[in-house]
Amino acid sequence: MDNLFKTKDTPILIAGPCSVESREGLQKVTASLLALPEAQRPLLIRGGVWKPRTRPGGFEGLGEEALQWMADLRKEHPTARFCCEVARPSHVELCLRYGVDAVWIGSRTTGDPFSVGEICRALDSTTLAVMVKNPLTPDVNLWLGALERVQQAGITDIAAVHRGFFTYNNMGYRNNPLWEVPIELKRLLPDMPLLCDPSHIGGDRTLLPQLMQTALDLHFDGLMVEVHHDPSQALTDAAQQLTPDELHTILSTLHSHHDPEPPDTLKLLRQQIDAIDAQLIRLLGERLDVARRIADVKAENNMPVFQPKRWEEVLQRKMQIAAEAGINPQFIKSIYEKIHSESIRVQLASPPSATQKSPTDD
Ligand code: PEP
Ligand code: MN
Repeated sequence: MDNLFKTKDTPILIAGPCSVESREGLQKVTASLLALPEAQRPLLIRGGVWKPRTRPGGFEGLGEEALQWMADLRKEHPTARFCCEVARPSHVELCLRYGVDAVWIGSRTTGDPFSVGEICRALDSTTLAVMVKNPLTPDVNLWLGALERVQQAGITDIAAVHRGFFTYNNMGYRNNPLWEVPIELKRLLPDMPLLCDPSHIGGDRTLLPQLMQTALDLHFDGLMVEVHHDPSQALTDAAQQLTPDELHTILSTLHSHHDPEPPDTLKLLRQQIDAIDAQLIRLLGERLDVARRIADVKAENNMPVFQPKRWEEVLQRKMQIAAEAGINPQFIKSIYEKIHSESIRVQLASPPSATQKSPTDD
């Protein structure tokens, strides 16, 4: 089989219902998706058949029966390719039996290396294409580890899927996008196709256009979007699913990019950014030297390293300067939290300077 996810300049589109709910529903959404102009590009139809539910009592998917419907639809539409979530080795075995083209390891499973290991033993030496969603927590190493386990099982058609993270404050999203985490994954695994699932990030279909555009702007290699033939009646994730027509409308308004040789103006601006960064880093070094001298003065005066009142004043002042300079104060706050924690670390690690008497000196 060709590599499903390495599709050069054409981002792959994965679309389909959150859950497969009925033969007719799957038939309708498959036929509508295959009739879209977007079906000319790499397209994979998704449909959950084993649904991880946070609370008991909801719709948990139809299992093997739904896989049979996918297999039947493939006879009707020979170009259709299907994928679903797997969370157990038995799921992988059933997907292989019914000729499913690709599977994904869901967010709840990625965070559990034991489960990922068991799934990988079932995947070993198969030709299934495999996607790995990010774990629920923003831990890039757990995500990386699951991808490595899949690679070690001999799977070559593999992609990472960013679906946001559960954080204390989800910033108005169902799952906080924390774009810096997939950006870090891309840095660690530059050749790994990285897809975005805006549906589970947004949790609300009105957020999808903006999230899909951001994913393209950030150079994601494809999108996984939940599409239902009648979203208002969906048994799971009704608020975030789109109709096939809505998907088409959004996709046709997105601005896609290409990646040419950078023009000279961009090269010059990048030189400026690099020079500014070098200055910033040198200044941070000077700031840390001052922090070490502060550590000496605090030690001489028997003062604790962390001074909550001073820290509050520093933070408020920096945020005020930021606001006056037209910079987002929350951005400056998050930078200063990092600077301050390094300053505390350095002060705690700072040996008493030569001018200070050690306790053993007379
Ligand atoms: C899904 O895609 O249907 C799903 C349950 O996703 P996640 O693992 O991202 O929550
Ligand atoms: Mn869903």
